Amino acid sequence: MTLLNGKELSQTIASEIAEEVNQLTEAGHRPPHLAALLIGDNPASRSYVGNKIKLCEKVGFRSTLIQKPEDISELEVLDIIQDLNNDDELDGFIVQLPLPRHIDADKILLAIDPQKDVDGFHPQNIGRMTLGLPCYKPATPYGILMLLERYGIETSGKHCVVLGRSHIVGTPISILLSRRGYPGDATVTLTHSKTKGLEDIVRTADIVIAALGISEFVKKDWIKPGACIIDVGINKKDDPSKKRGYRLVGDVDFEGVSQVAGAITPVPGGVGPMTVMALIVNTLQAFKISKTNT
Ligand code: NAD
Repeated sequence: MTLLNGKELSQTIASEIAEEVNQLTEAGHRPPHLAALLIGDNPASRSYVGNKIKLCEKVGFRSTLIQKPEDISELEVLDIIQDLNNDDELDGFIVQLPLPRHIDADKILLAIDPQKDVDGFHPQNIGRMTLGLPCYKPATPYGILMLLERYGIETSGKHCVVLGRSHIVGTPISILLSRRGYPGDATVTLTHSKTKGLEDIVRTADIVIAALGISEFVKKDWIKPGACIIDVGINKKDDPSKKRGYRLVGDVDFEGVSQVAGAITPVPGGVGPMTVMALIVNTLQAFKISKTNT
């Protein structure tokens, strides 16, 4: 069984990018620059943004964190986005989700310049991705593709079963894995809360991508021996032995499933670090497009 170690792999990719940034700055370019807009004080959002900023520092990017209170108006957010769109010294930016209820997330995402949309959420980027045109791929699916590629997991002709159809994970990874090329050329089944006979469908999978947000949902006896398991879920499970009273678990019962799988991502340390890395790779791509036209 191969442990698909996203933490280790993201460190390897970080070293490669740091080296590239070094060469770019030595050649007289400014470093790539990512900004993040964080609204309110949701602890999970704060921690996700913190990880993104930390990784920017590690690879030699410039980063800017813009923090605004929960009660900021939608109009003010749109103004900030316009400023970021027009900032020539900025390659890409993200608006950390979720947003407060009084702010329409769709409206905000639509206001982002698609050229700076390094989260890959703008409809223009989603459309380009669907058509197989150059685009910023959404971070989590892109992180999964990098993981499959770097570990040399075969995808061509394989049956890939995706659990969950969210706009940020399930739907885009289904599109990406069914596209022509590698990693892709898979036969993809996208399942969701209304799917019937889910367990039997998963039993036919060579690759399982679990992104439904239910703790340890996928069980050992659903898994074809040797299958590759990508666990996207991040869920809290009560654990009195931990100081904070819980531990993080995925959407897959790791203990059982790892006994039959051929390869599996751990939680934490699998897809999570690759998601942050994908954002960095997209920002580097944005920098190259705007500064060096490569
Ligand atoms: P979501 O919460 O928006 O939606 C869940 C999806 O699961 C829905 O499409 C629903 O139809 C589907 N679903 C619910 N019950 C199901 C069932 N019984 N069988 C099949 N499908 C079912 O999804 P999301 O935002 O993609 O998040 C999913 C999980 O992934 C969460 O735990 C989230 O925290 C985690 N996540 C992790 C990362 C990362 O970087 N590792 C990134 C994004 C999300």
